[in-house]
Amino acid sequence: MNQKAQVLAKNYCYFIDKAVTPAHAVDEMQKLLKLYEFQPLSEKKSWKGKLKKGGRYFVIRNGTSIIAFVIGDDYDPSCNGFNILAGHTDSPCLRVKPISKIKKNGMLQVGVSTYGGGLWYSWLDRDLTLAGRVIVKERTLFRETLVNIQKPILNIPSLAVHLSRESGENLKLNKENHLVPILSSFISKEFEPKIPNSDHHPLILMGISEALKVDVGNIMDFDLSVVDTQKSVIGGALEDFVFAPRQDNLASCFISVKSLIDSLDDKSLKNESRIRMVACFDNEEIGSMTDQGANSTYLANIMKRITKSFENHDFDVALRDSFLISSDNAHGVHPNYSNAHESNHQCQINGGPVLKTHVGGKYTTNLISRFLIRQLAERNQIPLQDFVVRNDSPCGTTIGPITVSKVGLRALDIGIPQFAMHSIRETTGVLDLLYLYRLFLAFLQDFNSISSELDTLEEIPFLSQPVLNQNDDNDDNDIEDIQIEKDQK
Ligand SMILES: [Zn+2]
Repeated sequence: MNQKAQVLAKNYCYFIDKAVTPAHAVDEMQKLLKLYEFQPLSEKKSWKGKLKKGGRYFVIRNGTSIIAFVIGDDYDPSCNGFNILAGHTDSPCLRVKPISKIKKNGMLQVGVSTYGGGLWYSWLDRDLTLAGRVIVKERTLFRETLVNIQKPILNIPSLAVHLSRESGENLKLNKENHLVPILSSFISKEFEPKIPNSDHHPLILMGISEALKVDVGNIMDFDLSVVDTQKSVIGGALEDFVFAPRQDNLASCFISVKSLIDSLDDKSLKNESRIRMVACFDNEEIGSMTDQGANSTYLANIMKRITKSFENHDFDVALRDSFLISSDNAHGVHPNYSNAHESNHQCQINGGPVLKTHVGGKYTTNLISRFLIRQLAERNQIPLQDFVVRNDSPCGTTIGPITVSKVGLRALDIGIPQFAMHSIRETTGVLDLLYLYRLFLAFLQDFNSISSELDTLEEIPFLSQPVLNQNDDNDDNDIEDIQIEKDQK
């Protein structure tokens, strides 16, 4: 197996294991960016005089979405746009309800809500724990922080096959009744600590207290997710797969940020006239309609603020000169269910990134963006695969169409193929991670030169020479005809 791909996959596994919730993912990304001298910016403060050509920055919203960018040394705010890689930080999971305390049949249980469209059966019989955001009291003030309890304190047991025929072959889970995790068997008074909080079991508060080294009394509120404690691994007989949770869409987040950082390696910013950007949004799995989601003003605001930080700016021009890659995982053809895939568009794991097309608008890829990305891939020897969904099958969507219709950008949809999308344990290909990384790197560094080679219908009215029909024997006549038409007008 390719050595570079193995190293990249190992770093990726490390990232996923730390990025247990969207807030943890953003925290890991900002730590990585800070290592490479990216400076944090606050949306609440003026950026006047702060942004410089050649500078590296990032902006976090809600702690769960992040936009990072670098400004080229030759950036011209009157005409140069953005090369944007975009993904999402969230994955389907179970979230602890505001009042979670449940006691039933001698068991302590935790009330949870389903977040997104998970393959919920895969959450049964796993070694689970809790992680998320907590507000703690520090003397007279309050502070938001992250917690990951790490120990497997929860489990959602399946029903024995002997007790229901449905438990075996025709498993149907009721999302309210059958997904309630068990925390403990003890309801004996001596094991129940005296903690004055009636909404959650004291054992949860004690778990947070232990993990954060804060007094239970100083835990004011929290937003916790149920997460798997099993570590990510590289697997398969040839070590060609990654078995891990949340790969949809931490794969895109990790590879985007890594590409952005590594794109600065070759000093290419010296001749860079554009802004290289990565945008990772929360809440894609629930429709993106939040303050920090792709359907907010977040991206447009940040792009506008960057452009307007420089003199002689023209944001509208910069916007139309920009290009966005919406990156989200795709479905690899499953050998046990190959009929579920359209027969001419079966994408293989480790066969390269998947270009997604949907004439109904679920993806943003169109003729122009497809042509340009194929050129880019071909020149960098990166294999691409094409995906369309079967006409008789439902189709997922991505942040692509939402972002593009909100902001007004040229775009395409791409992503690495995977098995078991939305399972607690998903499978991707080690080689695909490297292909995606190389494609993103090429996009950030070289896309504009390829894009400038293509004259589209948008540009044709402005060209000095009329476009000729090369199959026509007598080209000169065509020129004359056009000239005559012009004169008559
Ligand atoms: Zn996704």
